[in-house]
Amino acid sequence: MSEYLFNPPPVAALPIRGESTLFPVNRLFFVGRNYHAHALEMGKPVDKSVEHPFYFTKSIGTLTPSGAAVAYPSETRNYHFEMELVVAIGRAGFRVAAADAHELVYGYAAGLDMTRRDLQLVARDKGRPWDLGKDIEEGSVCSEIVPMPFTVIERGGIELKVNGETKQRSDVDKLIWNIREIIEDLSRFYHLQAGDLIYTGTPEGVGAVVTGDRIEGQVEGVGEVALTIGPAA
Ligand code: MN
Repeated sequence: MSEYLFNPPPVAALPIRGESTLFPVNRLFFVGRNYHAHALEMGKPVDKSVEHPFYFTKSIGTLTPSGAAVAYPSETRNYHFEMELVVAIGRAGFRVAAADAHELVYGYAAGLDMTRRDLQLVARDKGRPWDLGKDIEEGSVCSEIVPMPFTVIERGGIELKVNGETKQRSDVDKLIWNIREIIEDLSRFYHLQAGDLIYTGTPEGVGAVVTGDRIEGQVEGVGEVALTIGPAA
């Protein structure tokens, strides 16, 4: 067996509630604008009758466990939280029908899609890729994975607090494209694989954090996620 020139990065993995084994993470997918009230606050309302969902990805190296203290990232003055329900894929699938989507579900998690909002909006308005605004080191935060095999979550409160003050409060029954529809649509473009995580989008109330802030979020029936913002990188 060949040796590597330098040590490759370790396998990204998350704890699984109630299990001693880890959930190895493969890819990080994010659904854009998937709650009407958030789409409106971004100035880009969604008409589901004529639109399809859209996605962006983040590098696996951005995955950060819940509870971490992270540096305030470079090159932004508007670092935003986005509280999201995360689907953990446990089985491969391609061109999956919505009616069969539950067969791919291993479980769920609570996640944060951290965003350089200033850079994301510049990119959006200039028609450029979103990478600098979204693909942020330590910017894809995820709780432990909660096993709920073959289960499709259809409702449940989702909320986020900063320093104890509620900033986001909604329900995942307000997803524009629900879990079945997301798996059906995303699997038209990707061969979904075990270990893929799908962040399903954020409700309204997104906002900025600063050094010293403590973010705490939860999805009813799933779990909690937390993040502390440290000094600038
Ligand atoms: Mn998001």
